[in-house]
Amino acid sequence: MNDKFYPIAAPILNGNEKKYVMDCLDTTWISSNGKYIQLFEEQFARYCQTKHAIAISNGTTALHAALLAHGVTQDCEVIIPSLTFIATANAVSYCGAKPVFIDCEADTWNINPALIEQKITPRTKGIIVVHLYGHPVDMQPVMELAEKYGLFVIEDAAEAMGAHYRGSKVGSLGHSATFSLFGNKIITTGEGGMVTTNDDSLAEKVRLLRGQGIDPNRKYWHTIVGYNYRMTNIQAAIGLAQLENIDWHVDRRRSVAAQYHQHLKDEERLVLPIEKEWAFNVFWMYSIVLKNGGEQKRDELMLTLRKKGIETRPFFYPMHVLPPYDDLQPPSEFPVSNEIAAQGINLPTHGGLSQEDIAYISSSISEAMDAIHQV
Ligand SMILES: *Cc1c(COP(=O)(O)O)cnc(C)c1O
Repeated sequence: MNDKFYPIAAPILNGNEKKYVMDCLDTTWISSNGKYIQLFEEQFARYCQTKHAIAISNGTTALHAALLAHGVTQDCEVIIPSLTFIATANAVSYCGAKPVFIDCEADTWNINPALIEQKITPRTKGIIVVHLYGHPVDMQPVMELAEKYGLFVIEDAAEAMGAHYRGSKVGSLGHSATFSLFGNKIITTGEGGMVTTNDDSLAEKVRLLRGQGIDPNRKYWHTIVGYNYRMTNIQAAIGLAQLENIDWHVDRRRSVAAQYHQHLKDEERLVLPIEKEWAFNVFWMYSIVLKNGGEQKRDELMLTLRKKGIETRPFFYPMHVLPPYDDLQPPSEFPVSNEIAAQGINLPTHGGLSQEDIAYISSSISEAMDAIHQV
């Protein structure tokens, strides 16, 4: 019997987080001005190999600001994967624009680039790719299409900070990229986000949108309808400390993934996450897909694991089945997403898991599947 609880995610604050936050309190720089914001932005841009990084209130507002900066309005369509977290679709809706969904690949679970071109119309303005669960998207064909049709590409890198594609970091691959720094992401500021880009004018627009549209050179002169999407100095202080240790955070996740892989690789009832030869996967959530389970068996497996103290999550529901978006495209357009979403499970994935924890979780999965088979 094991009474321990294994959460799906847990932030690890083992660097200078406390020291920097105390500095904010001691100096009273607790609001959205202060040195940590600039330091965090500079170091984030350096890490992502981009010219600009703009700290923002969360990953959803990062997407909204990036879409507006790219000129998305209510007449536009924006192509996104169906299998993603709803924030990707919602940010398009906030602009009054229409999300157009694409099915995913069977192995990376990312947007299938081969299905994009047939969905491009005269109203298509751009594409948001999502590096799902930490595996980068195959960017080259996406960028080629974008070039051919004059579209923008935003990387939704909320789940993939530190991942690489053909040697380049995510965040530097599209025309802009967005990150989430929520408590369960690769690094965290509690709530928070970031927009990265190499484009000076785009960066300027995102800064303007973030800060109420205020003219940087003229107080209380607002040139556009902006938003209050600012990050606080306290959040940036935590973020800077997290970023100082990013290599450790990424290594730990990859080590957790390697151990799961070792335990589960001979399990014939499961599909395991992969790493393409051109990819460096950061394994935001180590995820498994039942081969012949169906949604009911998947849910049964999750319940059995929960009774053993192991928290798991189902894969995201594809966007095309969710109430705000279920009247846009028929489910038959998404055979791969439908199958994966119904049978996928995210396992506990964070740097605090020990070798024993991972062995216990892995053996519990096999035992639970045996039990379910006998039912
Ligand atoms: C977490 C996440 C977001 C949203 O980030 P928040 O900081 O929670 O607003 C957006 N897209 C994806 C793919 C995510 O996983």
